[in-house]
Amino acid sequence: MTYVVTDACIRCKYMDCVEVCPVDCFYEGENMLVINPNECIDCGVCEPECPAEAILPDTESGLEQWMELNSKFSAEWPNITTKGDAPDDADDHKGEEGKYEKYFSAEPGAGD
Ligand code: SF4
Ligand code: SF4
Repeated sequence: MTYVVTDACIRCKYMDCVEVCPVDCFYEGENMLVINPNECIDCGVCEPECPAEAILPDTESGLEQWMELNSKFSAEWPNITTKGDAPDDADDHKGEEGKYEKYFSAEPGAGD
């Protein structure tokens, strides 16, 4: 079992999650983060920290697309362990529908 970042994270990137993860298993893309499912110890502490409610346990249904995305891109993107500055327009995109189709980028973020 693992926790999964969904498209609710796209263009939010508040990064409150990375500070609390005891095993540093978040990875940074250009405009969202993902969790490495092989490294996540399923502690659940990141879930309530995410203001966008983007983090869910994989026991919830309908997460297959995001499971695949987290698995694929956590192997390609750099590790991120320190909270950075959220984009200026992060709040404008909170709760927006269809963010994957509109904004997803496969490009890596800067990491740390
Ligand atoms: S706190 Fe939530 S929205 Fe922000 S980077 Fe982490 S998973 Fe994404
Ligand atoms: S559930 Fe725990 S180990 Fe997994 S990503 Fe969240 S904080 Fe890290």
